[in-house]
Amino acid sequence: MARAVEDALQNRNHLVVEAGTGVGKSLAYLIPLIKHSIETGARILVSTHTINLQEQLIEKDIPLASKLFDKDLRVVLAKGRGNYLCLRRLTMTMQRTDGLFSTKKDVDALWAIADWSKDTADGSLADFHGFPSMEVWWQVSSDQYHCSGSSCAFFHRCFYMKARKSLATADLIVTNHALFVTHLKLVEEGSPFFPEIGAAVLDEAHSLEDVASEHLGLNVTKAGLERILNGLFNEKTKRGILAAAGLAGAEKAVSGARSKLDEFFDEVERWHDSHDEDRRLAGTNFNGGEISSAFSGLAAVIAGAVPQFKGSDVEADIEGYGRRATDAAAAIGVFSTTDRDPGHVYWVEKDGRGNCALRGAPVRVGPILKNLLWNDIKPVVLTSATLAVGKDKSFKFIRDRLGLDEAGELLLGSTFDFKRQVSLCIEQDMPDPREAAYIPALADMIRKYVLLSKGSAFVLFTSYRHLDETYEILRDFLNENNFPSFKQGGELSRSRMLDNFRETPGSVLFGTASFWQGVDVPGIALTNVIITRLPFSVPTTPLALARKEDIEDRGGNYFMEYAIPEAALRFKQGFGRLIRRKDDAGMVVVLDSRIMTQRYGRIFLESIPECNLQIVKSGGGDETEPPKRPRKNRRSI
Ligand code: SF4
Repeated sequence: MARAVEDALQNRNHLVVEAGTGVGKSLAYLIPLIKHSIETGARILVSTHTINLQEQLIEKDIPLASKLFDKDLRVVLAKGRGNYLCLRRLTMTMQRTDGLFSTKKDVDALWAIADWSKDTADGSLADFHGFPSMEVWWQVSSDQYHCSGSSCAFFHRCFYMKARKSLATADLIVTNHALFVTHLKLVEEGSPFFPEIGAAVLDEAHSLEDVASEHLGLNVTKAGLERILNGLFNEKTKRGILAAAGLAGAEKAVSGARSKLDEFFDEVERWHDSHDEDRRLAGTNFNGGEISSAFSGLAAVIAGAVPQFKGSDVEADIEGYGRRATDAAAAIGVFSTTDRDPGHVYWVEKDGRGNCALRGAPVRVGPILKNLLWNDIKPVVLTSATLAVGKDKSFKFIRDRLGLDEAGELLLGSTFDFKRQVSLCIEQDMPDPREAAYIPALADMIRKYVLLSKGSAFVLFTSYRHLDETYEILRDFLNENNFPSFKQGGELSRSRMLDNFRETPGSVLFGTASFWQGVDVPGIALTNVIITRLPFSVPTTPLALARKEDIEDRGGNYFMEYAIPEAALRFKQGFGRLIRRKDDAGMVVVLDSRIMTQRYGRIFLESIPECNLQIVKSGGGDETEPPKRPRKNRRSI
């Protein structure tokens, strides 16, 4: 892999590499990258999807790879602007604290941030102990709208400016996909976030399409628009930048906008609640003319008032709110017409708290990435443990989705001995997951395999509904047999669930999509991964429906071209949770018989490494080939 990356760097060719867990792929790209940077002076960038991998690169892999070279490398971890405290906004907010926040909790949170600001090293959220209230952080964090730049009194102490400055002199930048995609968008708008980049590696590249869809799209929420209005004038507290600046007349404009905002989102919510199946806004538009005009009107009032605040403390804030109001009017305008970008899909969604959002996303990110990424930065190396699908381990699916026409390819296996380390048990007599008999049968099989492994199991679902139904059936069994269990969708966060699982021997974790990937539980804490269902993403989400129609409109077969390879990659990710180290061992259980009965099933089996396959026939109560208990890892025990 290191040689292939070196070739790609020398010839400026893009490269796609699948390398299994344990290969050491981060060192295999870091060493040639660092060498290339030292020899040519080119600035290099490594982007990942998860914070865990960024931390591993910064704390372990980059220092280790750098030891091979005499030169000290300037390495910078780049974070989004909203991660940094703005000292000017903090000072302004402290001056207005009596009344800006309506709860004591928020006032206390502001004081906690003020205390922390005196001795924080870099002023970023990661350095803050805990997590501040978002309402408070939004008022004091750095952002493009409220920055007075070089005329700011805090410019020379500014955390964000220091971070930007360090990027300019960095040899190696580590960042996340979200910020990297945002940078690509900003390049197009003429204000790039990163300085010039000579070469890039995108690790965990399997998640790039979804991250790009999200960050190249639109997200308009009532809460976001209310924040703008509250910042200008909060009717409850009678405070806000307008009151502070003595612009009492403009308060009326804010009140007007607020009532139109309520009306607008009431209409959006009614529409959402009356559309169960498909919430795309193809031929639908909302009556957003009044709210859009209200925000434009606010922007005009603010623009008229700006000259009288020239050189004052509030100038940047007043101007910032004016630009926010203009952008809000434009974003609402997109949903007030049916004349929208045909390459995007627009829809309404509601979060768990019942708040509606207006969303938009490109249906195909490939053409956008071709323009913004593949033609602009050369080379880019894409890598992950899960990029290739099927018997011939083809990269076609991922390359098509990302619009990557020209690239070298390298497929590396794994250093693990899967035949020895993994028993793959397939229950071939399970009812079809679409039948009513499936859930009771599923619960029976989970019981059987949890007993066999004595817990230490992940049970992976594709929907919360199936997870909840199955867990309800199993709750008593788990309690009676003393299997501590953690269920996603309850009070525990994902990371807390994982910590508890790692620390509680013999426990069972019931999880959905986010546990299929990016989760690392080495050793005997996890010896059994139960895959309840092949992870087809049912095209019911607006984006998935739009992708399906887009493929079919171009004469393609959605199921073969998209649904199967996408599900096979996710299956491979779920399978990959089990073996994280050379001395791990255990079983992967598949409780979806379609892997045996359907022709496409072999694509799933061919996509994962060859292992000790056991087809288990349970019909009539007789097991023709009972599953063997996995060979436990003696060294670990
Ligand atoms: S330079 Fe901008 S981000 Fe920095 S403290 Fe001043 S206003 Fe805030």
